[in-house]
Amino acid sequence: MIESADLAAIREAVRVLCGDFPGEYWRRLDRERAYPRDFVAALTKAGFLAALIPEEYGGSGLAMTAAAAIMEEIQHSGCNGAACHAQMYTMGTLLRHGSAEQKARYLPAIARGDLRLQAFAVTEPTSGTDTLSLRTTARREGDQYVVNGQKIWTSRAEHSDLMLLVARTTPRSSPHPPPHAGDDSLTCPPPRAGEGRVGGSRTAGLSVFLVDMREVKGNGLTIHPIRTMMNHATTEIFFEDMRVPAENLIGVEGEGFRYLLSGMNAERILIAAECIGDAKWFIDKAALYARERVVFGRRIGQNQGVQFPIARAYIGMRAAELMVREAAALYDTGKACGAEANMAKHLAAEASWAAADMCLQTHGGFGFAEEFDIERKFRETRLYMVAPISTNLILSYIGEHVLELPRSY
Ligand SMILES: Cc1cc2nc3c(=O)[nH]c(=O)nc-3n(C[C@H](O)[C@H](O)[C@H](O)COP(=O)(O)OP(=O)(O)OC[C@H]3O[C@@H](n4cnc5c(N)ncnc54)[C@H](O)[C@@H]3O)c2cc1C
Repeated sequence: MIESADLAAIREAVRVLCGDFPGEYWRRLDRERAYPRDFVAALTKAGFLAALIPEEYGGSGLAMTAAAAIMEEIQHSGCNGAACHAQMYTMGTLLRHGSAEQKARYLPAIARGDLRLQAFAVTEPTSGTDTLSLRTTARREGDQYVVNGQKIWTSRAEHSDLMLLVARTTPRSSPHPPPHAGDDSLTCPPPRAGEGRVGGSRTAGLSVFLVDMREVKGNGLTIHPIRTMMNHATTEIFFEDMRVPAENLIGVEGEGFRYLLSGMNAERILIAAECIGDAKWFIDKAALYARERVVFGRRIGQNQGVQFPIARAYIGMRAAELMVREAAALYDTGKACGAEANMAKHLAAEASWAAADMCLQTHGGFGFAEEFDIERKFRETRLYMVAPISTNLILSYIGEHVLELPRSY
């Protein structure tokens, strides 16, 4: 277990690094919809993106609690970890389910920063949250798989060497499988082969591949950027007879849905931590402004109509922060944390969005001015009410799996 002094040192180191990437840096990239290459390179060089890679593979071997602190501090500093957060959790699928050869080949290179594993291709235009309805196929042909289909919202695909791809290797066997919102096997540690309740016929047929995009770009793989309301480097990608060596299959063919679920708790806890960092940034910014801005001859923070929304946002953030810490602590001790990871993500996304709205309102007209960074962060943090999993699907997970209410879909 990581000591609090170590955690404080990690937080301080992240803050120092982020100090080199002030608001102006992010504003310029936002205007140009450009990727924060220098920021990601600095995080990689400092080893932060290899936080969860075990030391035997050249990473820092840190706990989830520490990884969450890293992501929180990035956001609290006004930076945007969305440019690279996927590497932290995506490599978990390789770590837990990859072969010894795959791990030895890729993990040290990822830890060194020689290879980037930033892209995670699950969502498709027609299937949405219902992952088991995805249509991209991978057909075995000798020592290769031939992939055809389409993905959407594959973020950072243009800035990644490797992509974790989920494709169907056998036809779907059930008309009403669960969507990727969660399953009652979403526990920590994630189920290993032969464990858990996922992997039966309802969920069989999906497989996970580690695609080396450098080999297939323009040769079966086409990437189209999607311009979004915030600078997120997201894309849609098309596969046309894209060939992937069979040795790049992760784990057992057809078991991919289980591997996918096994990474979701980490993803949710880390993104929840980012939301906590965002909420802290908005609250700090609003409190500072409310202490200093004078209207009608007095500081606006003296008015309870301005003060109370800031206090309310702070209370919401602190409550969400407790749940994020509980989920991370459960994860680190190998205990079940599916419900806590989902609740943490839900509470933290709501807290950051509430804080964003409050911060903008506190600043009045200036909240809309680009140079205050509020409108940019406001756009950025809104995403987490929808991705990687929307609030409704978390509510339905809690309703069904915690409260034992009837399944709603
Ligand atoms: C900027 C961005 C980046 C992303 N990055 C990635 C990525 O890197 N890789 C990746 O694979 N995906 C990525 N996604 C996709 C993201 O995970 C999905 O958008 C998200 O899971 C919601 O799925 P959907 O958009 O298909 O919505 P849909 O599934 O079409 O749902 C639409 C709405 O209906 C609601 N809904 C659907 N079914 C139910 C139900 N049964 N009960 C109640 N409400 C329901 C949903 O909550 C949602 O509000 C990204 C998305 C965005 C916008």
